[in-house]
Amino acid sequence: MQGKLELLLGPMRSNKTAELLRRAEMRRQYAKQYVLVLKPSDDTKGGPGVVESRNPNGHTKMRALEFNSGNPWEVLGAIAETEREIGKRVECIAIDEGQFVDGLFLFTKHLLESNHDVLVAGLDLDFRAIPFGEMLNLTWLVTAFGGSITECMAYCSCGARALYSQRLIDGQPAPYLSPVKMPGDSYEPRCAEHFVLPGRPH
Ligand SMILES: [Zn+2]
Repeated sequence: MQGKLELLLGPMRSNKTAELLRRAEMRRQYAKQYVLVLKPSDDTKGGPGVVESRNPNGHTKMRALEFNSGNPWEVLGAIAETEREIGKRVECIAIDEGQFVDGLFLFTKHLLESNHDVLVAGLDLDFRAIPFGEMLNLTWLVTAFGGSITECMAYCSCGARALYSQRLIDGQPAPYLSPVKMPGDSYEPRCAEHFVLPGRPH
């Protein structure tokens, strides 16, 4: 038996986390599944152990297991322990901020092969509009294992669809050479016309 993958992709403020938690809650409430929510430790939105959505209208908070983004494999022990505790299988694993997870492709593949359904939400592109981590590689796992790809929508302040995450530092567009992970930065979704990246080489 194999699991299926539901992949949620989009820029900042496209309600990815809210959608992930909505689907997790649906599975709990109606399918009576045990859903384990995972959160890489690079995520700075919530406190320890809690995945938090920025959308105030959605299911804003849910308990989550925090793990070191450099070693997702440490979670396997926690899954086995949870299964012993609840006396049944963990049917579904939901991973938020997937772009931060090292080895996300192989880790997700392992979970699918171990018969867990997997939900993964994350940014498709980083602030330089370059593929972020292994998120886009996961589309192959949807082809191989089945499931779905959802492009979460965000909008630029001009009203056009926003495909880019504009990083701002002190309200100004961040330069291309600023670090990919940076504490204290902020973002807004922008369309191609309004996305600004000073110092971009291409
Ligand atoms: Zn725009």
